[in-house]
Amino acid sequence: MKKLFIKTYGCQMNVYDSARMAELLAPIGFCPSDTLDDADMVILNTCHIREKAAEKIYSELGRLRQQKEKRKLTIAVAGCVAQAEGAEIIARAPQVDIVVGPQSYHRLPEMIARIARSGGQALETEFPALEKFDALPNDASPGGVSAFLTVQEGCDKFCSFCVVPYTRGPEYSRTVAQIEAEAVRLVARGAKELTLLGQNVNAYRGEGPDGKTWSLADLLGRLANIDGLARLRYMTSHPRDMSDDLIAAHRDLAQLMPFLHLPAQSGSDSVLRAMNRGHSVAEYRRTIDRIRAARPDIALSSDFIVGFPGESDADFAATLALVRDVGFAQAYSFKYSRRPGTPAAAARKQIPDGVKEARLQELQTALGEQRAAFDTNSVGRVLEVLFEKAGRRAGQAIGRSPYLQAVHVENAAAHIGAIGRVHIDAVFPNSLKGRLVAEHEKAMRH
Ligand code: SAM
Ligand code: SF4
Repeated sequence: MKKLFIKTYGCQMNVYDSARMAELLAPIGFCPSDTLDDADMVILNTCHIREKAAEKIYSELGRLRQQKEKRKLTIAVAGCVAQAEGAEIIARAPQVDIVVGPQSYHRLPEMIARIARSGGQALETEFPALEKFDALPNDASPGGVSAFLTVQEGCDKFCSFCVVPYTRGPEYSRTVAQIEAEAVRLVARGAKELTLLGQNVNAYRGEGPDGKTWSLADLLGRLANIDGLARLRYMTSHPRDMSDDLIAAHRDLAQLMPFLHLPAQSGSDSVLRAMNRGHSVAEYRRTIDRIRAARPDIALSSDFIVGFPGESDADFAATLALVRDVGFAQAYSFKYSRRPGTPAAAARKQIPDGVKEARLQELQTALGEQRAAFDTNSVGRVLEVLFEKAGRRAGQAIGRSPYLQAVHVENAAAHIGAIGRVHIDAVFPNSLKGRLVAEHEKAMRH
């Protein structure tokens, strides 16, 4: 067997794609390795969202060239940088053998065979999403206790800051039958929780078994019937697609976890307009109210961008006000970074980095306090924890609460793969600490 090392950057969709690439290459003799040292092939599964993403990949490729000078090594660049840069990668980094976009990676085996046969380099950056899902193997490898399942790809929304519509292509939803079959396989291999993935997952419109178009809520309702599947989650959602039936699913589906990642980006209407988000701040707030009415304990998460071109002090204050009023259990925040080819990159009123940095610090402090408050609220409560893996200490297990908080528990290794009732004792910056309820009760009796 040859050894394959995949380095994954960016979002969960890339994590999913990396797992599928590994499965795809297993039948042609590649087994996964978690180090580059003895790898015969390396795939950089790249992300294009962050500042200087492409430059970082070129530096990584420089380091790989040194390895390749010493031994035989096939180098592939996959993901969104591969899509965006395309042939430029082969021109700038001739040590690269394969460049493959996120919608074409099902062609990897054929590309590997082609370069083995006739040498040279191979490049595929088309968008045949339909073909990709049909071509992927059916025998999904163990995805673990909590597995990802891509149900939707691409984006038609064209927010003015974002590269995704260009790198991932147009919106496309897999059929319900295809998703259900993959879900059943993942559950048979030990998954207790599935997170349905999509760049705009709540814009899901897939063909149902009745030939009609099904929504994400319809799909979740169907998957909830799978025996042995305890938990369902989905991400990432767009506020414009938070439909009534999806909100009702948060009330009605026991398996659907009380957690929602709903990026707001900004709390200012003029910034939202310039971002082409397609909704106002009042509409975002109303959506949150509707969700909380359906599921009062829901934990909310969001993405924010500070320093978008033209963002004034008052616009930023409006973002802080939105954060204060909504109360997020967790959130991600970023300084705006210019992505070449997107409309906002050409805007004249770019914000100086010092201002962006100061706003980011202020926002992250506010979000950090909210997160700490949310987590502190869990202390003394009993939460159901799905144990996913062993912790660093012997006997320790790490899992997730319904609200997606990481929880670590001593003497719980035997529970990995199962849901345990955990009494939460303490809060750490990125996790909670608890005891299995039986142990907690024993301690209380003494
Ligand atoms: N589809 C999701 C949505 O509509 O919000 C977001 C997907 S995007 C891959 C993840 C996050 O990266 C965005 O929500 C945004 O906050 C951030 N992001 C995207 N482009 C950015 C840019 N040019 N500068 C800073 N942050 C950016
Ligand atoms: Fe990017 Fe999300 Fe906007 Fe689509 S909806 S363009 S993925 S930020």
